Amino acid sequence: MSILVYIEHAEGTIKKTSLEAVSYASALGEKEGKEVTAVALGAIEEGALAKAGAAGAKKVLHVADDKLNDGVIQAHASAVAQAFEQAGADTLVLAKSSLGDAVAARLSIKLKAGLASNVVALPEEDGGYKVRRSIYTGKAFTDTVITTSNKILAVKKNAVPLKSDGADASVEAFQVNLEESDFAAKITATDKATDEISLPEADIVVSGGRGMKGPENWHLIENLAKAMGAATGCSKPVSDSEWRPHHEHVGQTGVKVAPSLYVAVGISGAIQHLAGVNASKFILVINKDPEAPFFKAADYGIVGDAFEILPKLTEAVKAI
Ligand code: FAD
Repeated sequence: MSILVYIEHAEGTIKKTSLEAVSYASALGEKEGKEVTAVALGAIEEGALAKAGAAGAKKVLHVADDKLNDGVIQAHASAVAQAFEQAGADTLVLAKSSLGDAVAARLSIKLKAGLASNVVALPEEDGGYKVRRSIYTGKAFTDTVITTSNKILAVKKNAVPLKSDGADASVEAFQVNLEESDFAAKITATDKATDEISLPEADIVVSGGRGMKGPENWHLIENLAKAMGAATGCSKPVSDSEWRPHHEHVGQTGVKVAPSLYVAVGISGAIQHLAGVNASKFILVINKDPEAPFFKAADYGIVGDAFEILPKLTEAVKAI
């Protein structure tokens, strides 16, 4: 038996979350004595696919069909099911994402596989195949036992270490049979509303709160974000006051982010805001009040005036 990993890619590059999924599968493969094969769908160069090897995949099955470029969910599920059979797999690993969720749900039916989502650790043989999952936006964990022989594990972003020392994977062209019904719903056009980095997917987020005093000061947040290659976010009162658009509002009632680094500037750290950021790997808080609750959730903190710190921090980042 082997482990199959469903790889997502964007503009010719494998997504970091998918490399995390391959890394997880690699550790699982070592534990269970199974080889790791990945499957990628749509247009992506062989050289880019071979990089899945660094994270632990021995082989990548590539279905180079342009019709699969835009996450056509049903067709992706059919193609991955065929790759699952080809690889002789009993476990499918993928990244927890909106496309991953949709594909995994369909594959769970197709493969008669128990599905565990938001997985944060390797399974344990403890009264069955026990998988630890993150729930309630990272505030609690739950153990789920999968009882089927086929299994699907959707790995939570930033929850597992990224492996990067493997040799290039071999890439094999793979033909699949897709039916008209697999394309019953398809994306015909995608218009980018903005060139900004997508907030839910961003690896670094710089977010501002009411401490920024007004929209006229937002260039300080934007300058730091630009220097760091980050997306910008904000607290709810900031978007309610129309200092920033609503799609930037982070928290319980807004966007949930899971970056490697979340920089919170002039945000107090109310529980409703923290609900949207606690999947971040590292949190840096900049606040002039040393008692601000956000410092309790922070990995790094700077106590001081954002208006003095932000320009200095931006210059320091630019100098790196
Ligand atoms: P404030 O609480 O006013 O904090 C401003 C911070 O800036 C303070 O800590 C202050 O010390 C600091 N500061 C001031 N000046 C400076 C300076 N010059 N330099 C550095 N620091 C400075 N909020 C969300 O963000 N997201 C949500 O999804 C959300 N959902 C909610 C849902 C419900 C049902 C409810 C009731 C509330 C929700 N809220 C949400 C609101 C939340 O409770 C807080 O009111 C909000 O997060 C506070 O925003 P803030 O930190 O920007 O502002």
